Amino acid sequence: MDTNPERPSAQPHDDEVVIDGSWGEGGGQIIRSALALSLVTGRPLRMTRIRAGRQKPGLLRQHLTGVRAAAEVGRAALDGDALGSGDLRFAPSEIVAGHYRWDIGSAGSTTLVAQTVLPALLFADRVSQLTIVGGTHNSMAPPFDFLHAAYLPLLGRLGPRVEANLQQYGFYPAGGGQLTLTVHPSPLRGYDLLERGTLLGRSAEAVVANLPLEIAQRELDTVRRRLDWDGTATLHPRQVPGPGPGNAVMIRYDFQHVSEVFTGFGQRGVSAERVAANAVRDARNYLRTDAVLGEYLTDQWLLLLALAVWQTGQAHSFSCVPLSSHSTTHLRIIEQFLGVTCTSDSRDDGSLVVTLSTN
Ligand code: AMP
Repeated sequence: MDTNPERPSAQPHDDEVVIDGSWGEGGGQIIRSALALSLVTGRPLRMTRIRAGRQKPGLLRQHLTGVRAAAEVGRAALDGDALGSGDLRFAPSEIVAGHYRWDIGSAGSTTLVAQTVLPALLFADRVSQLTIVGGTHNSMAPPFDFLHAAYLPLLGRLGPRVEANLQQYGFYPAGGGQLTLTVHPSPLRGYDLLERGTLLGRSAEAVVANLPLEIAQRELDTVRRRLDWDGTATLHPRQVPGPGPGNAVMIRYDFQHVSEVFTGFGQRGVSAERVAANAVRDARNYLRTDAVLGEYLTDQWLLLLALAVWQTGQAHSFSCVPLSSHSTTHLRIIEQFLGVTCTSDSRDDGSLVVTLSTN
């Protein structure tokens, strides 16, 4: 069932959480996480100065799709949902599970729209099915493979089960990709993530759409050579269908307690070797320490673990690479909505142990 509720305009409210969208990292994540937390807690949100410091300030198409998707899932009153808007009022009423379909209408990231509504749907009373159309492998966003192999397995260990399917690849600028998610809610139970465990496997996949397969092969050669991989690592060059040209190379490490995915995104004018070297650089940064979570997984895990800590009242820890500005910004929003706070200790290898608690 596709629902399209009437959306009354949101009014100022005593209990509303006010967030300056230009604070800290000041990008799209502040918007997505504030919407997610407003939905889960039921607290109305007022967001000002959205992406004020960016070249194209305000809501872009991907953010706007996220805002409207959140409003639909939360049967929210909404004000300021327009392209370029820098000011938003959002007042959710209830979390409603169901079948939803959102088309970003550009190559904007489908995984980021998914992450806007996913936290709320973990708290729903029944299963939801989401279809999202747009980009599936975008620079500056989690590629589908990261969502599938790194993010969702960690989420699954909190209790809820989320199945993800990539139905069509979508690259910038053509978009037109499609993913589906089936969300089985369940109460969250936190856990600690302090060791990677043994290395189970290393692999890399390079995909090209409407481009020669030779690009993918050159990327994988670069990965193998630069990471000094022997014959036990698997390498998959793949030509995939898609509405426009595109390319990504993904390096994957599977450990007992975590999988990490490092991605290089193809770009016109950038050689295959350079694209692969970008992914190799991220992998090396991760492998330099014993941290369980790399930079991107850390900022995304913070929100999920904070929800589990908030729901159970029990503190939990994880080890990670040094916190990015995305992570520190995220922590502040989490504290504002959930009262969950963070402490951290450095380890000798340069990693951190982060603890979230309700104290
Ligand atoms: P923002 O720049 O505020 O829109 O947030 C971007 C989000 O995408 C953050 O949560 C990042 O962790 C995530 N992200 C960016 N690049 C990658 C990548 N290569 N792999 C996984 N996640 C990514």
